[in-house]
Amino acid sequence: MIDYLPLNRITALHADEIHQTVSQVVDDGWYLQGKAVKTFEEQYASYIGTDYCVSCANGLDALTLILRAYIELGIMSKGDEVIVPANTYIASILAITENQLTPVLVEPDVQTLEIDDTLIERAITPQTKAIMLVHLYGQCAYTDTIGDICRRYQLKLIEDNAQAHGCTYNNRRTGSIGDAAGHSFYPTKNLGALGDAGAVTTDDRQLATTIRALANYGSPQKHVFDFKGRNSRMDELQAAVLSVKLKYLDTENERRKEIAQSYHQHIDNPLIKVPFAHGDRDHVFHVFPILLSERDRLQKYLEENGVQTSIHYPVAPHQQTCYSEWKHLQLPVTERIHREELSLPCHPAMTDEEAATVIRILNTFK
Ligand SMILES: *Cc1c(COP(=O)(O)O)cnc(C)c1O
Repeated sequence: MIDYLPLNRITALHADEIHQTVSQVVDDGWYLQGKAVKTFEEQYASYIGTDYCVSCANGLDALTLILRAYIELGIMSKGDEVIVPANTYIASILAITENQLTPVLVEPDVQTLEIDDTLIERAITPQTKAIMLVHLYGQCAYTDTIGDICRRYQLKLIEDNAQAHGCTYNNRRTGSIGDAAGHSFYPTKNLGALGDAGAVTTDDRQLATTIRALANYGSPQKHVFDFKGRNSRMDELQAAVLSVKLKYLDTENERRKEIAQSYHQHIDNPLIKVPFAHGDRDHVFHVFPILLSERDRLQKYLEENGVQTSIHYPVAPHQQTCYSEWKHLQLPVTERIHREELSLPCHPAMTDEEAATVIRILNTFK
């Protein structure tokens, strides 16, 4: 069986270093807010290219804390609108509603599967305060048009970089393009921990300081509580593991790109639409999403032939029970993607033979 994402094999690529660093933390006896977290924050800020990195418990918290900090700083208030792609993972939207802000869903482009930048301007109202830009599937979603809109309407640009660690735009990393970015280190992500972890990157000192306090009970210093904060911290163990894995992130992304390239070159089944790949939109292939009308039949066929796949995602956010207020919305592009998307195995531990097998089976599907 070719597994969709065998995390044990991916961890095994760096097993010795990971075991060593984990033992070190265990033996040191300091498990939270210590030197491993501080070191990772410095390394990650420098990798992404921002002045600050504030670690937290997970990617949803990272996005939620950014918006909460903007509220605390008086830059946003309840009821303000945040533009977000309609076809994102639900966490991007949960971060908005968690803060009593209003998500405004914008359709993606059917070629790139990223937010359609030609539809953003007409979604702006006097209440719009920000764009939550999601680099979905690991592909850069930023365009100069989006930057231009943010400047003209004075909108904050928040990047959801949960799927795109290491992706670039004109020599800059995603996560350093907007005003602030949320990152997830959930185990399946391109930079994945061995449990939950997340971070915010930004050049905005005041925002970083506020988020750091908010994530630590609202406490900027011991026994002082400026905000009604929460507890959202990254463990030393996770930070130590992430420091090891960060060293190999670029190499692992290159391997993902190689697999993706062989898919692009050799999948020639006319029923299958391979993802957009274009030089000016970097893609680190967190997911290799193909589209086809008979998605479920192909998934079953692959399964029967020993290839496990995944779906990102089967049901769109506006059709979920938790957002029943959007039941009436019709978002045909989003709905089509959720109906037709299938994710092929694409990860750094994958062999050429495995990729060739996937291609061979795909090309025999009729
Ligand atoms: C994974 C993910 C998140 C949430 O990250 P967690 O660490 O699981 O909370 C947010 N947005 C996107 C696009 C994601 O893929």
